[in-house]
Amino acid sequence: MPRADVVVIGAGLSGLACAAELAGSGASVFLAAKGMASTHWTHGGLDVAAPDGASTSRDGIARLAGSAGHPYARMSDHVADAVAAHRARLDGTAVAMVGDLDMPLAPIPTALGALRPAAILPMGQGAAVGPWEGQGLLLLGIGHFRDSWVDYAARNLTAGAWPGGPAEIRAVTADLPGLDARNNLNARTLAVLFDDPAWRARALAAMAAVVPPGAWRIGVPAVLGLEAHAEIHAHAQEVLGGAVFEMPSLPPSVPGVRLFDELRRRITAAGGRIQVGFDVVEVERDGRRVRAIHTEAASRTLRLAADTFVLATGGIAGEGIRAHRGRRLEERVFGLPVTAPNDSEWFSDDPMQPHPIESLGIDVDDHLRPIDPTGQPVLENVRVIGSSLAGMRYLEQRCGDGVAITSAHVVARSLAARSAAA
Ligand SMILES: Cc1cc2nc3c(=O)[nH]c(=O)nc-3n(C[C@H](O)[C@H](O)[C@H](O)COP(=O)(O)OP(=O)(O)OC[C@H]3O[C@@H](n4cnc5c(N)ncnc54)[C@H](O)[C@@H]3O)c2cc1C
Repeated sequence: MPRADVVVIGAGLSGLACAAELAGSGASVFLAAKGMASTHWTHGGLDVAAPDGASTSRDGIARLAGSAGHPYARMSDHVADAVAAHRARLDGTAVAMVGDLDMPLAPIPTALGALRPAAILPMGQGAAVGPWEGQGLLLLGIGHFRDSWVDYAARNLTAGAWPGGPAEIRAVTADLPGLDARNNLNARTLAVLFDDPAWRARALAAMAAVVPPGAWRIGVPAVLGLEAHAEIHAHAQEVLGGAVFEMPSLPPSVPGVRLFDELRRRITAAGGRIQVGFDVVEVERDGRRVRAIHTEAASRTLRLAADTFVLATGGIAGEGIRAHRGRRLEERVFGLPVTAPNDSEWFSDDPMQPHPIESLGIDVDDHLRPIDPTGQPVLENVRVIGSSLAGMRYLEQRCGDGVAITSAHVVARSLAARSAAA
């Protein structure tokens, strides 16, 4: 029957960052998650805050902190420390981040040929930001890989407005060795192929053969290796003769998988335990305290007891909160009260825009304990982090990653300080 100082529930960016920081501070940590998280869907960068009109992430944080009920309204003083701690965790690895809170938010191209604002990115995507100064953008696609649409993306980028953008946008496609014989080719399969030095050398030579003469920055699908990414990225720049950046596309997100793998390594190297495939099915309580949770593993139920439980289940997108018929909302682990917009505001008229429903979540106090509508803590030894928190619209405000690592940092630091004092 495992017992830990802290049990973290959820293996998204918030749960992983919290468990890594806690384990690094000497706490015994057990992270249990039902499944993989939004790391495996998203771009693997760090969206800290980019609401409309923000010039830098720091400016974005200030704007969001002024909005009542937003998680940054109570945590904005901790964002810089959290970003520094997160970057320090990843420095020296293949998922090290470039950029900072004061860098101008620059439009970078997506795989569909839209633009999104970004400032802090994994090293392999870093060349997407920065002034273009007369350079062209070359989108280099991979033949037979159905999740990359470089001609479509180039058309969209050329047709849309891109102030200060590239002098020219062009798309080319390279046929890489042996891909025509594969029926099912996704980003992860390609990344594993790139990890093989012999295949990679032939693939990069085929890619170099389609690069036209000129001064290009080259966008490629985000498939440049899982295990040897830093080496492969450097090799690609050398062979293709220009700054190369990865463009994430459909899941599985290879940059997100790399981030997950690196954070998992950090947790286990510091003595923490992490188990994915463990759905929480039962909770033991003692008044306003949780004694233990039970998780359903492959062949048995596992009881996990702890002093503190950190809920990092990702809100509605992570399935930590479910919406039932009749618009009944359920927080699935502890049955916590859920705060949501009025029924009439759940959906916007424009299906292509993020829906207001994404702001639903758990209200918390300054210790990030869940509270009831009167402001009283519902459970004293539970903390809520990440997208489970109420009050943000992460797709519109581009603040989901920043809130994830900041809430993780706030909780990890306060729990570490408490155990040091005990
Ligand atoms: C498709 C998609 C795109 C996004 N794009 C952006 C973006 O561009 N910018 C941005 O800022 N944010 C974006 N987000 C928000 C993103 O969720 C946050 O940025 C951040 O990564 C949230 O992490 P999290 O740890 O809170 O939750 P998640 O990453 O959702 O992780 C939740 C974890 O909890 C686990 N879990 C859930 N229920 C249970 C249970 N009962 N028992 C055990 N485990 C459970 C899940 O299996 C998972 O491991 C996006 C989210 C999604 C889904």
